[in-house]
Amino acid sequence: MIRPTVARVDLNALKTNYRYLAAHIAAGTGVGADPADSRPHDSRPLTTIIAVVKANAYGHGAPQVARALEGAGATTLACADIEEGAALRAAGVRAEILVFGALSVSDLDGLFDCRLTPTISTPGAARAVQAAAAKYHQRIRYHLKIDTGMNRLGFRFDNLRRTLPDLLASPNLDLDAVYTHFATADNPESPHFNEQRVRFDRAVAELQTFNRKERGERSEEIGTSIHSPVSAFSAAKRPYVHAANSAALLRDSRVWYDRVRPGLLLYGLVPPPLASTIPLTPVMTLHSRVVAVKGVRAGEGVGYGLKFNAESPASIAIIPAGYADGLDLRLSGRGVVLIRGRRVPIVGAVSMDMLTADVTGLDVSPGDEVVLIGSQGQERIDAREMAATIGTIPYEVLCRIGSRIERVYD
Ligand SMILES: *Cc1c(COP(=O)(O)O)cnc(C)c1O
Repeated sequence: MIRPTVARVDLNALKTNYRYLAAHIAAGTGVGADPADSRPHDSRPLTTIIAVVKANAYGHGAPQVARALEGAGATTLACADIEEGAALRAAGVRAEILVFGALSVSDLDGLFDCRLTPTISTPGAARAVQAAAAKYHQRIRYHLKIDTGMNRLGFRFDNLRRTLPDLLASPNLDLDAVYTHFATADNPESPHFNEQRVRFDRAVAELQTFNRKERGERSEEIGTSIHSPVSAFSAAKRPYVHAANSAALLRDSRVWYDRVRPGLLLYGLVPPPLASTIPLTPVMTLHSRVVAVKGVRAGEGVGYGLKFNAESPASIAIIPAGYADGLDLRLSGRGVVLIRGRRVPIVGAVSMDMLTADVTGLDVSPGDEVVLIGSQGQERIDAREMAATIGTIPYEVLCRIGSRIERVYD
């Protein structure tokens, strides 16, 4: 049984996007990179990708997306919380899974049961994860998050001297990586991006000195305590460094460091208002079919509130997808859908389970294909356009595509 409205998820496009991004990074030339950066890119170690699959892989379906990315060579994935990580493990994902979210009030058993890598971004999380690791008699590798100006999660960049010694001394926690997150990478006008970059570079340098000291103090303990060889190794190596979301990745190769963390780009969309020459393909398209065509007379209204009023006789196509499916109310009178290769306006109120489009003058019948996101004939609507129409970002458009809509994978 399948409804007429479906989201098609093209896993080959996803894999191709992953490979294009990996090649772009490997080629070492950031589009829009600061021309002042004259460092030879080929002299540094290869940057690789942490593939972000949080929020059900931006609405695409996390298990399928994660497995496809593993198939394309991804070795590290990232999700928002422990529950998402556990769902990925249940789906058979074997790659390393980094959890971004704060953990101070989470049920931490999943970290150990599902071999997830936590982010430690607050002193509370450090204490909670340390206590849980002690309970499990395990050492656990973690990523340290530094707040360089987003003022959300992370240890403040300007207070590390006070906060880090305790964390680095936690007996069951091994620092594997250090990262930050940019607040304004998608705003080319904002100087805050560069400020965050400089603060982060300083914080990483400062951390190195702490970490060396800490390792010195603990070297005897590391030699004698019982822990896995992996932990012993990670305790002895330099933590790796990452910072770049999609926008930062496009904007400045200086923030690529050891890993980049794209989400939106993997799904084939460039964060607005940025542009890119990397040939990415949108992974998800949204399709439906006309279920009825209604003739209305001049002066008659359509739908709740009769918000559309026909000035002359009109033909209205009824499409079985509404706000319960994530199609925003504000599309009414603004958005378009594709029918018979034409852009036709969404008219009248979007309701819970259906919307209506003005197909006057077109030869439309029940059963005709409707494209809500995607292309048909020469025409095309992507999530970026839909987002712009309703004053939001493509991230929200993708994440809101409802659970009632079946994802079909090909
Ligand atoms: C969501 C997220 C990303 C990916 O962001 P995009 O803009 O989709 O590339 C990267 N890092 C963190 C910490 C995130 O939360």
